[in-house]
Order: sequence, then C-alpha cells, then structure tokens
Amino acid sequence: MESLDNGLVMIIDDNPENLKYLASIVKKSGYEYVMSLNGKQAFEYLKSEKPDIILLDIMMPEMDGYEICQKLKSDENTKDIPVIFVTAKTEIDEIVKGFEVGGVDYVTKPFNSIILESRIRTHIELKRSKDKLKKYIAKLEETNTILEEEKERSDYLANRDYLTGIFNRRYMVERMKEEYARFLRYKEIFAIGIFDIDNFKKINDTYGHECGDFILVSLTKSISESIRKMDCFARWGGEEFIVMLPKTDLEGAAVLFEKIREKVEKTKYSYNDFNLNITFTCGIAEISNEETIDNCIVRADKALYKGKISGKNQIVKG
Ligand code: GH3
Ligand code: MG
Ligand code: MG
Repeated sequence: MESLDNGLVMIIDDNPENLKYLASIVKKSGYEYVMSLNGKQAFEYLKSEKPDIILLDIMMPEMDGYEICQKLKSDENTKDIPVIFVTAKTEIDEIVKGFEVGGVDYVTKPFNSIILESRIRTHIELKRSKDKLKKYIAKLEETNTILEEEKERSDYLANRDYLTGIFNRRYMVERMKEEYARFLRYKEIFAIGIFDIDNFKKINDTYGHECGDFILVSLTKSISESIRKMDCFARWGGEEFIVMLPKTDLEGAAVLFEKIREKVEKTKYSYNDFNLNITFTCGIAEISNEETIDNCIVRADKALYKGKISGKNQIVKG
C-alpha cells in the first residue's frame, strides 16, 4: 500500500514516552504516523508499508539507530526513505556518523517541536520533488530512445531504394566521394561497374510491371550475394545499377562482373507460371589520377552503351 497523500511518518524509538511525544508533533503537523519500539518491529512493518520519512532514535538495545539506518540504506525497497535522527547524542562525531550511515538530517533532544515539524515537512517535500524528477528523467530517457530509433530508421530509409532495399543513388554518390578522397590521399584504387538489364521493357510489356518489379528485386538479391561486404551496391535509376568495388582494379572488376553475368544468365527467375531468363550489360572503369569521379562514371557509362549496341549481355571495359 502506498503512503497517504499527506504523508506517513514512521517513528522508531525504544522509549514509549518519546514515541508518544513525537507522534503528537507529527499528528499536529497533519501527517499520519506509525510507531515502532525497535528495529525488528520497524522492519516487519516495512515489508508491507512504505513511509515517506523515518524519525529514528540512536540509542536502543539490540539494534541501534545507526545499524537500522545502514540496513535501510542497503535495501533497494527502503534506501530512498529519508531518515532523520532524533537523539540525545550531541557529540560532533556522533552527528557525523549519522550522516555517514545515510541520514538526511539530525535533530538533538531536547528539540523545538516547530523546528522538527518544519524539517519533517522539508524532507518529505524534497523526497517528493526527487521522485518527480526521477519519473520525469525516466520519461525523457524513454522518449529519447524512441527518437533515436526513429532517427536510425529514417536514416536507413533515406539511403535505401524503396523497391529493392539496396542503397540508392544519393547514398552511392556520398560513398563514391569518400572513396575518391581515400584514393587521392592514399592511392587506394577502386573500380565501378554500371549495368543495365537487357530488354527490360519487353519483360514489363509481356508479363506486366509487377513482374518487372519482381525481376528487379530478384536480380539485386543475386548480385548482393556475389559481392563483398565492403563493396557498395546501389540502384542508379530505373533498371540501371551501380557497384563500387574498393581496393579493386579494372581486371579484378572484369573478373567479378563476368562471374555475376554468367550466374544471372543461368538463373531462372520464376514468376507465377513463367520461368524467366534475364541478362545485363555492364560498363566498368577504374579510377585514374587525371580524372574526377564524374569522369570515371561517364567512362563506365560509355562502355555500357558500347556493350548495348554490340550485342548486349557482356562486360565492357571503359
Ligand atoms: P536495353 O536492353 O537497351 O537496356 O533495353 P531496355 O528495354 O532494358 O531499356 P529501356 O530503357 O528501353 O526500358 C527500360 C524500362 O525499364 C522502361 C521502364 O518503364 C522500366 N522501368 C524502370 N524502372 C522500373 C521499375 O521500377 N519497375 C518496373 N517494372 N519497370 C521499370
Ligand atoms: Mg535496359
Ligand atoms: Mg535503361
């Protein structure tokens, strides 16, 4: 059960007279109270109730106030309940010890009831503000996690082609710029291949646009399986794709694309009752010292065009 709205004060003191007196002050302050004559009784009570604050005597037989406070502070369920020591002990090192074991305040007997009352009120309110702040922070953290996930998702989508799920042109351009900078700095070569599905319009016209989409998705899967993790594969537009191969020269690119070309040529893409064969033509180029990245793309594109007008289904070096 939660403590009442106006607050529940637990008083622990081995002296019944002290208990009564403290209880009368607590009651006058408008709080509910519960009394315990010793630590054992108090911990029994704390199993089912959670007071807003504890007034704790120090000198008690069996378990003294310091021990009780330490035990309270080491238990997850009670560690946040503020403890005010109310005691006849007035030595500085005894007061210091009270704070060391986790007390929030220390009131020495004989005390002024108005001061005690205001300290109880202050610490209850402080505790409530802390709780509110904690809840608020937890909520903020939750919102933050959601926002981070959303951002990750939208970053992901911003770089992807909606149909095939591979990278889009925007992302490829950024990656090429990075790779180009690496090339200028460290002379790390890279190659690109631009390829275009042969007679794709015919597939759309014969089997429908959906079948065309299916082919685009299936082909990108075939190709994704054939390249390395470090390679970047993107849809360049329509039925045209581009692969960038870091640390690969023209010969290496030719070997890889030839392997892919053969694989795709042999694959039967099943759509409804149709088994379709497709081929592609590919223009490749290796980055060179005297050119910009755009030049390199133009060379690959020209090679692709050459391949298209000379029979298609081939890899042409630019
Ligand atoms: P070539 O061998 O010379 O490349 O001929 P082609 O028919 O493949 O090339 P063309 O440029 O004449 O036609 C490309 C077709 O690709 C036309 C266009 O409608 C289709 N296309 C482009 N994007 C998509 C798409 O996302 N889905 C589908 N289904 N078709 C697309
Ligand atoms: Mg085409
Ligand atoms: Mg085309």
